[in-house]
Amino acid sequence: MTATEDYTFVCPECGESLSVNDSMREALIHNGCVVCGSTVAEESFTAV
Ligand SMILES: [Zn+2]
Repeated sequence: MTATEDYTFVCPECGESLSVNDSMREALIHNGCVVCGSTVAEESFTAV
């Protein structure tokens, strides 16, 4: 593993899929989806 991306995020609203690290995961949970602004829950993340 070379990257710091530890989770896969899939937005339940728009279907956007992103690889994120732990701090990005926290930011998404706080700020919502970067694409559609939908509220993001921890269940939307899958550990890689
Ligand atoms: Zn979205």
